Amino acid sequence: MRKHLFLGFAALFFSLTLVGQEYELQSSTETYKDLLKLHRGLRVLYVAAHPDDENTRLIAWLENEKNIETVYLSLTRGQGGQNLIGDEKGDALGVIRTYELLEARKIDGGEQMFTRAVDFGYSKSAEESFSKWGKEEVLADVVYAIRKFRPHIIITRFPPNRNAGHGHHEASALLAAEAFDLASEKSAFPDQFDRVEPWTPQAMYFNSSSWWRKELEDKTDLELKDENIIRVNIGTLDPITGMGMNEIASLARSKHRCQAFGTSRDRGERFEYLELLKGEWRDDLFDSYEGVWSRSEGHKSSIQSIIDQYNFTDPMSNYKLFINEVEPKLAQRSMWADGKDINYVNQLSAKIKRNMLGVRVEAYAGQDPIVVESEFDLNIEVYNGGSEALQIRFNQPEIDTSFEIGSGKQISFIRKLNAPKEPSTPYWLRLPHDELYEIEDPNWQGEPRLRDKMIEYTVKFDVPFKGETELHRKWTDRSVGEILQPIQYVPLVSITNQSNTLLIKNDGEVMQHIEVLAFGSVKDLRVSPSGVEVDATARTGIMLEKGQKTTVSTKWQSGSEPNEKHNIRSSAYLGDLAFHQSVQAIEYDHIPNILIAKDCEMTLVKLDLKMQAAKILYIEGSGDEVDEALENIGYEIDRTPLSEVADKLNDYKAIVVGIRAYNTNDQLIAYQDKLMNYVENGGNMIVQYNTSRGLKLDEFGPYPFQLGRERVTEEDAEAILLQPKHQVFSKPNKIESSDFDGWVQERGLYFASEWGDEYTPLISWKDSGEEKISDGGLIVSQYGKGSFFYSGISFFRQLPAGVPGAYRLLVNTIEYQPK
Ligand SMILES: [Zn+2]
Repeated sequence: MRKHLFLGFAALFFSLTLVGQEYELQSSTETYKDLLKLHRGLRVLYVAAHPDDENTRLIAWLENEKNIETVYLSLTRGQGGQNLIGDEKGDALGVIRTYELLEARKIDGGEQMFTRAVDFGYSKSAEESFSKWGKEEVLADVVYAIRKFRPHIIITRFPPNRNAGHGHHEASALLAAEAFDLASEKSAFPDQFDRVEPWTPQAMYFNSSSWWRKELEDKTDLELKDENIIRVNIGTLDPITGMGMNEIASLARSKHRCQAFGTSRDRGERFEYLELLKGEWRDDLFDSYEGVWSRSEGHKSSIQSIIDQYNFTDPMSNYKLFINEVEPKLAQRSMWADGKDINYVNQLSAKIKRNMLGVRVEAYAGQDPIVVESEFDLNIEVYNGGSEALQIRFNQPEIDTSFEIGSGKQISFIRKLNAPKEPSTPYWLRLPHDELYEIEDPNWQGEPRLRDKMIEYTVKFDVPFKGETELHRKWTDRSVGEILQPIQYVPLVSITNQSNTLLIKNDGEVMQHIEVLAFGSVKDLRVSPSGVEVDATARTGIMLEKGQKTTVSTKWQSGSEPNEKHNIRSSAYLGDLAFHQSVQAIEYDHIPNILIAKDCEMTLVKLDLKMQAAKILYIEGSGDEVDEALENIGYEIDRTPLSEVADKLNDYKAIVVGIRAYNTNDQLIAYQDKLMNYVENGGNMIVQYNTSRGLKLDEFGPYPFQLGRERVTEEDAEAILLQPKHQVFSKPNKIESSDFDGWVQERGLYFASEWGDEYTPLISWKDSGEEKISDGGLIVSQYGKGSFFYSGISFFRQLPAGVPGAYRLLVNTIEYQPK
C-alpha cells in the first residue's frame, strides 16, 4: 500500500518553548536575572552518573536564588535504563534521556554536559564500571569538563564510596574528586590544552541529604559544622518570578518522563546538606566565593549600578547604561579576566544587550525533512522591538547583507542553503561504540548535542556586538498554530528493517520485510540484502514519489547451523548511488523530534525451537517488544485491553504480562480476580518484572510473594537450574547450559525476594564477587488447575536481541502444563 504521507515524521506538534528558543526575546525580568548572573560571575559543576540523578532542587536554587551558573555533568546518557513511555532501548533511549535533561535544564536554568561513558546497565561497583569504560578515558572527560566550564565549585550527588549504591554513582563521585585535583595540573591530559586551559576549582562538596543520613535532620548547625556540613533551605520563593525553588525543581524533574519521575509541585521549606570534601570551610553558602570578577571589583560595581537603576519598562535606558558603564570596562580585557572567562562574559553580555535592544533574528526552513546535499529555502526574520532604529549585518557566504531596521519593524527575506552530506543524527551515535562513545571531533566533547547551522549577525547601535541564531523548521498548522521543530536532514531513500532480528525456526524459512521510504521521487530503485550466502533476491524497478513508502520482502531459508547468528546489511541502489541508512524518528511531545540515522542491519538467527502455535493474551505494561517477538516465532498475540476480554480469558493458552504492568496498567487492578480465576481454571499466567516501588497491587500472585531490588547484572553469570527435572527445562525444549550463552546486558532484575512454600524457585545465579545468590528470578506456583510465573529474567532485552536460549526458555514457560 502506498501512502502519501511522511508517516512517522512530523506527526507531533510542539509548544514554542521546545526548540530554537534562544532567539526569542525575553521579558525584562529575565534580562534582569541575567544581569544578576553576570554580576555574580560564579559557576558550579554538579556531577552524577545518569540523566535523573541530578538534584533539580539544588540546581534550581543555585541558578534562580543564588544566580550561579550551574552545569550538570552526567557521566552517561542513561541508555542502559528502562523506558516507561515507549519501546526505545539502548542508544535510542539515551537520545530520549539526553533531550529530557535538556528540557529539565530549560526549566531550572542550568546547562548540561556529558562524558563519553556509555550506560551499560546496572553496575554493582565503581571498579566494574571503570573496567568497562576504561578509567583513564572517563577521568579525562571529567577533567575536560572542568577545564571547559571552569567551575569555581564542584558538587557531587553521591558519596565516593559503596554507600553510593549503583557502581556508576560511586564512580561519578570518585572521578569528580580525582579530576578536582588533576584539572589544574599541566602534566595531566596535556593533549587537551589545544582546546582548554588548566583550571583550579576552589571547593568540592558532596550533596548529602537525610535520605543517606536520617540523623542530619536532628543536628544543630554547629554539630553539622563539626562534620564540615552546611545546611541550606532551598525552599525559598523568588519574588521576581513568583516561583519557589522546589516548585521549579518539581517541574524540571517531571521532564524525566521515560523514568516516570513526574512529581507534584513542591513548596515550602526544604533542606539540603552540603559536606565540604575539598577546599576551605566557609560559613556562608557560596556568598564569599569570588568568581569571574575576583580581579576587578570595579566591573562588579558597574554591573551593580545597572541592577540598582534597572528600568523594567524602558529597556533602551538599560542598554544605554550598559554601554556607558560596563562596556568600556569589558573592553580592557587584560585588566579583569584570564583566558576563557572573556568568552563567557561576552556571550552573556551579548544576550543581555540583544534583549535590551529588542532584537529578534530567526532562521528557519519549512516543514518537510530536507534531503542531504539538496538546496532549500532559508527564511530569515529580523524584528526590531526596541525604540530606536538599528543596523543589522549578516556576513557569511550564504547571506551577505546589511540594512537599517526601524523601531517596531520586521524585515523578512529568503536565501538558498545547501544541506550537508550526512543525515541528521546525534553526534555521539555517528561512529560505532562499545562502552565508550567514539567522537569524531574532540571539540564536540562534553556537548549535550551539536547545534544545527548557526546564522551569525552583527547588531550595531552605538557599539557593535555579535549574535547568532540556530536554524530550525517552522510551519503553521491550522489546529495548533505555529510549530517549531529541529531541522531534519534525511537521505533520499531510507530503508528500515521491520524487525532487528529475524528468526528461522528449525528448517523453515522467514521473510525479511524492509520498509522503503522516499524523501524525494525515485525511479527504478533496487533493494537488496547482503551479508550471508543464502537464497535472498533483490527487488528491482521500484518507483516512489516524495513521501511514499513501500515494503520490500525477501525470503530467507536456513543455511546455517542451529542457533547461529548472522549480520545482514541491506542497501537500496539508484544506478550507482547506494543508500544503506535507516532513519528512525524519536517523537514524543515533551522533547523535540530527533532523527537517528544508522545502517540498515539486522541479525538472522537460526533457532532450534519446538513450540505449538497458540493464542496468547499480551497485557501491555510500560512498553516492550516481547509481544512482537512471540508473534515472530508463530504465536497468535492478542493485545485487546483486559476490559474487553475479561470474560473470555479461557480462550487463551497463556496470558503474558508486559514489563512493569503492575506499576502502570490500572486495568490489572480491576480484573485481578478474573485473572486469578483464569489461573485457577487451568490457565497459565506469566508476569514479567515489576518494580517493588509504585506497585498498583501489593499482591498480584495467587499466593503472597515479595518483590525485591535484586538483580543479576552480568549477562554471563552462571545459571544453576534448581530443579533440573522440572518440566520448564524439558518441554517442549530441552534447556541446556548453552541456552544461557550470548545473553545481553544482564540476566534479570527486580527478582522476587521472598515467597511462600507454594512457589518453586527454578534458577539460581549471582554476579561475580557477590556473596548472595539470587533464586527469585523465575518462580512458579500451581494454583487450582493452572500455574502462575513471576519472572525477573530480562526477556524484554534478550528476545529483541535474538538470543535463542531466551526464546526456548520463554516458550517452555508459556507451554508449561502443571501435572
Ligand atoms: Zn543513577
